[in-house]
This record gives sequence, structure tokens and C-alpha cells, in this order.
Amino acid sequence: MTRDPRFDVLFEPIAIGPVTAKNRFYQVPHCNGMGRLFPDSMIAMRGMKAEGGWAIVATEQCDFHSTADVSPFTETRLWSDQDIPYLAGMCNAVHEHGGLAAVELVHNGQDTGNIYSREVPIGPAHRPVTWHNHPIQARAMDLHDIRDYRRRHRKAALRAQQAGFDIVVVYAGHDGAMPSHFLSRRHNQRIDEYGGSLENRLRFYREVLEDTLDAVGDKMGVIARFAVDEMMGSDGLEWKHEGRDAIEMMAELPHMWDVNVSNWDNDSMTSRFAPEGYQEDYVAFVKKVTSKPVATVGRYTSPDAMVSAIRRGIVDIIGAARPSIADPFLPKKIEEGRFEDIRECIGCNICAAWNNLSAPSRCTQNPTFGEEWRKGWHPEHVAPKASDSRILVVGAGPAGLEAAHALGKRGYRVTLAEARKEAGGRVTRESALPNLNAWARVRDYRLGQIATMNNVEMYFESKLGVEDIFEVGADHVALATGSIWRRDGVGRAVREPLTGASADRSFSPDDIMNDKRPPKGSVVVFDDDHYYMGSMMADLLAEKGYQVTLATPGLCVASWTEYTLEQGNIERRLLDLGVEILTRHCVSAVGDGVIELVNMMTGEQIKRSGALVPVTMRLPNDKLYESLAVLPGRVEAANIKSVRRIGDCFGPATIAAAVYEGHRYARELDTEIDPDGVPFKTVTYDLELGG
Ligand code: ADP
Ligand code: SF4
Repeated sequence: MTRDPRFDVLFEPIAIGPVTAKNRFYQVPHCNGMGRLFPDSMIAMRGMKAEGGWAIVATEQCDFHSTADVSPFTETRLWSDQDIPYLAGMCNAVHEHGGLAAVELVHNGQDTGNIYSREVPIGPAHRPVTWHNHPIQARAMDLHDIRDYRRRHRKAALRAQQAGFDIVVVYAGHDGAMPSHFLSRRHNQRIDEYGGSLENRLRFYREVLEDTLDAVGDKMGVIARFAVDEMMGSDGLEWKHEGRDAIEMMAELPHMWDVNVSNWDNDSMTSRFAPEGYQEDYVAFVKKVTSKPVATVGRYTSPDAMVSAIRRGIVDIIGAARPSIADPFLPKKIEEGRFEDIRECIGCNICAAWNNLSAPSRCTQNPTFGEEWRKGWHPEHVAPKASDSRILVVGAGPAGLEAAHALGKRGYRVTLAEARKEAGGRVTRESALPNLNAWARVRDYRLGQIATMNNVEMYFESKLGVEDIFEVGADHVALATGSIWRRDGVGRAVREPLTGASADRSFSPDDIMNDKRPPKGSVVVFDDDHYYMGSMMADLLAEKGYQVTLATPGLCVASWTEYTLEQGNIERRLLDLGVEILTRHCVSAVGDGVIELVNMMTGEQIKRSGALVPVTMRLPNDKLYESLAVLPGRVEAANIKSVRRIGDCFGPATIAAAVYEGHRYARELDTEIDPDGVPFKTVTYDLELGG
């Protein structure tokens, strides 16, 4: 297919100092939980982005000295020549597909505890380190330390050049880098030439940029990655004031500006709290004050929105982290006019969460992300079918849809049966919750793909029983029948069903989403799930006019959403809606119109009127499986070779997990799997000791 000329502007080459990007797609630095600990995985993942058409593919943050030790996070590292080979591997993988490889050199200064290196942390001032509240302080850098820092950064830039990188990104973003700490009035109260006026506070960044340009600027592009606003009003940097002044003062210094908002929670806001292109208002001024190319991010997945951002003079280059994770082939698909094939990011931040858990990252939309090397999964290609088997998939939630989609792509004949009138399962129900509409993309992408396959048949309003399954005559049966939320309070804190939690007093999230609601008045949402659903129930019910109390055994509301970078926004949203928040509280009894709670710190009992909405755990909807399991003779007689549970029906978890399990089922069908083996490739280490 040929490109629609409307999108030509996205494919114009652009110079970044001495190097030229072949188009306007820039995979900005993004964490991935692989980094130096799982280098093969990291290399294959970055190479995949280049294969998918991204002109610039950057590393995640790359710490350049042992005083910048981000352990236990798993990022890239360039502390010495020893670190060059695996980064060279990434450069080769990117170059192989005509991309430019960029390295983001970072020192997190006062944020890191240096818990592996044991070096004393450094920063512009004496301050306790911020991450994890370690009992460790950063010491104030003197002029000697600043000289050391500049020399080390310069050496790292030269090492990056040796590794084969084309671009150095000099990082001053997210309130998490030494230059941003020096720039900040909050962090920097120095009285020497690096403190006080904006010019003085900016001196550190300017010098590091100048050093980098001097060291490698004739051969490598030098990008300034700079946060122009901290979204905290006059307590922080504001684009209308010092953010703008700072860019004006260095406007022509770097070869390119990559501008965004700070901190990471704000830069990578979930779709629940920010729409596509949400950073434009903050960064629109930059192109007016510099002649250098400008890039920003904003979860751009729509080719029209990208073209519009360039045409309106907001940016020259489209930066993307999450959209490149959800679809590494986004640029190629736009180039080839295959818009319906784009797997749009849903803005859920599961990718960020796993990085924040120091584990290889994953993606809700793209089940192959992070599996490029260890499972050999390509996001666009699957192996052709290995038999003429016919597969019955029961349930069209994320697991069933993905299984049918990937099986269909392999060429199998697939029957997908869904009990409801519509596909999507939990995704359809949850995307109707306040501000979660982007989540419907999980369903829509797969339905769109399946619609083009004449080997996949879908049946709605087809609630299958055991006899129906035998009648279909399939060779393999995949049960993707989902799960149901418990109504009796059992979960982490409550281990036995709560007495009195009957259907007229206790309403599960499924009830609420199916419009079965308590009478108007008061409700207590008991959140022992700690992810989004508890806060969603509170949000929805408060919007509908209920008086809502959210009680949780957690230390804060929706504590797990710290990993998805949304906890602060969720807490603010609930407070704005007038929700009463009770942390460290557990439900102890459900009475008629009254809920008893206990303060887990003091043991004090309190009561709230109304009904209970327990958000605690789900049970697999696996009755079909159990019924088939007791009929092995009939299964055999029907020539059914396998019956498997996938997704929430097997193990209730995230939507990402359901999509992954559906995909895995499709990939593994008709392949030999050693049940005792490790189901993926693992890293082998070259040991100095141990033979
Ligand atoms: P998952 O996240 O694992 O995909 P969901 O709960 O989202 O699970 O989806 C399960 C889907 O299975 C729902 O759409 C539900 O209507 C459907 N389903 C459940 N039982 C049956 C059945 N017996 N026959 C057909 N569809 C079913
Ligand atoms: Fe987007 Fe969610 Fe995938 Fe991250 S995990 S790239 S936010 S769809």
C-alpha cells in the first residue's frame, strides 16, 4: 500500500546536528525493567522498534557513574568500558534497521541511595535521599565535585560514541536528574555561582551540555531533554516563567530539544487522567524560541493528531514511549496506510508498573513486549498453523479475543462463542467506568483484526454449556470464561466470608457494573484489592450521588497504583468528589444498613450506614472446565484433544495477563512444551569465579 500524502510530513528526514533521522518518529527514552540485567531482552526489544520504523531509538536512563546507582531498578549503565559491549549490541540492533541509536545519560543525584555501589550520594545541597526514604543522605557537592561530575559525564559521552551511539540525550527532566535538581529553587539553595538566580541555577546544565557538545558534538547529535513545567504551580518550575526563560537562555545550544512536563507521574499520565496530546499547552512555546528541532510526548497514537501537532507548529518530531511499546510498528503501519492494524496504547501504565517493580516490563496491548528475545515472539508475525485443527474458544473477553486473533493469524479455523450480545468481557464493562474509555481499544483492535479473517467465526448470545461444546466438534477447546468478583469480603485481610454480606447488603463490582446498585444513600467501598477497581467504584458511585466512604487496609488509597504512577491523582480525584477515605481500616461485619469497620492500628470499632461494596478478589468462572473434567470419556469420544483454561478463568489477574495468556495459548498450540522446563530463554553469565 502507498502512503497517504497527508502523512508525508511524518516521513521527512530531519537533521539533528551532524546526524539525520530518516523520519519524525522518536522512541524517547523509556524504562523497561530489562536494561543491564536482561541485556538480550533489552537489545531485541529496541531492535524491534527500529524494525518497526522508529527513526531514533533511545535507551532508558543510562547511569554514568557509581555515584548514580539506581539499584534496585534495572536500567542501563555506562560506568566503565566494561559496559560498552551490551550497549554496542543495542546500537547494532538499531542500526540494522536504519535507525539512529540514542543514549540518555543520567545521574539521579539526591534521589538514589547508591545501595549497591555504597558511594555517598551527591546533590546540590545536603538532603535525605528521596527514593524509598532510605536512611541515607546526599551530601552537597562542592566545586571540586562539580568538576568531577562534568568530567565523568564527558567520559560517558565518549564511551557512548565508542559503543556506536549516534545521539546523546542530556537529561534534565522528571525532577529526577542532577541538572533539574540544580535548576530547582526547591532543591538548590546554594550561595555560590550555581545557586540563586536562574542563570546561576541553570549553569550546571549549560556546562554539561557544552561539555557534551565539545566532546562528541561534531559526530553525534546532542539532545536536551528538559522538563518545562512541574505542574505544581509556583512551588515548582512553570513554563510561563522560569521554564520558558531557561529554554530561551539556551535556545540554540543543543542540536534538538525534547521537552515535556515533570515529574514522571505527570509526564506519563494514564488515560484515566489525561487525553492524547495533553502536554501541548505546556510545550507549545518552545518552537517559538528556538530554531532547533523540537519533540514532545503525549501518548500520540492517532496519525492525524501527529500530523496536526507538526502542522500547528507545536513540534517537528513525534516522541513516544508507550505508543511505541503498544505498537513497535506504528511508523511502518502509518507509512503503509494500515491504520486499522495499529495497536493503540490504552494508557494503563502496566508497562511502567513492572519497571517500577524492577521486573521485565509488559504491555496490555502488546503481549510480545519483553518477549522478543526470551520467547522469540515478534509483534507482527506468528508461525503458521501446524495442523488442520479446529479450535473452539469460549468467551470473548481479552483472553478469548486475543487467542482467537492469534490463532486466526496462524491460519487455524476458529469458532469464538460469547454469551453476551457484545464482545470484550471485562474490558467492555470496565471501559464504561469513569474515564476508562481508552481501554476499549483492547477489544476494538482485536475485533478489527478478526473481522478481516474468514477462518474465524464469532457467535454472540451463545452461552455454551457442556453439550454445546461437544456439538461444536472442535479439536481443541479454550475456555476463556473469565471470573467474578466475590461479594462476601474475603480477600487479603478478611479470610472468612463476612456474616451478613447478603446480596441485598453487599454489591460486588460486577453488580455495580451490571447496574445492580444499592438504594441511593451511603455506601462503604472496602478496597482490599489496592489497584484501580476500588477507587473506580468510589468514583462512579460518588458521581451518581452516593455518600461514599472508601475503607482500605492499605496505607493509602489504591496503594498498588503507585506503580502505575496514578496514586496521587486517584487520591485527589476521590477527595474532590467528597469521598471519605479511611486507611488502615478493615470491614468486620455487615448489618442491615450498617457496616462495621475496625481501625487496624487502634482496634477502635466504627460504623457507617449503608451498603457494602467489597472489592477484594475474584473467583475463576470455571464451571465448564470442571464439568468437562469429570467427563473424560465423552471428551475423548468427541475427539477433543485438549481443554485449556486461559485468562481470568485460569488465574484472575490484570487485563495484560489475560491478553498474554490468550496469545501464549495461540502460539503454543501444536508445539511441544516441556512442562518441567523454563518456558523462556534465560540470561547466561560469564562468571569470573565458579568454573
Ligand atoms: P478474560 O479477562 O479472561 O478474557 P472476561 O471476564 O473479560 O475474561 O471475559 C470472559 C467472557 O466469557 C465474558 O464476555 C463472558 O460473557 C464470556 N462467557 C462466560 N461464560 C461463557 C459461556 N459459557 N459461553 C460463552 N461465553 C461465556
Ligand atoms: Fe500503553 Fe498500557 Fe501498553 Fe503501557 S502497558 S504501552 S500504557 S497499553
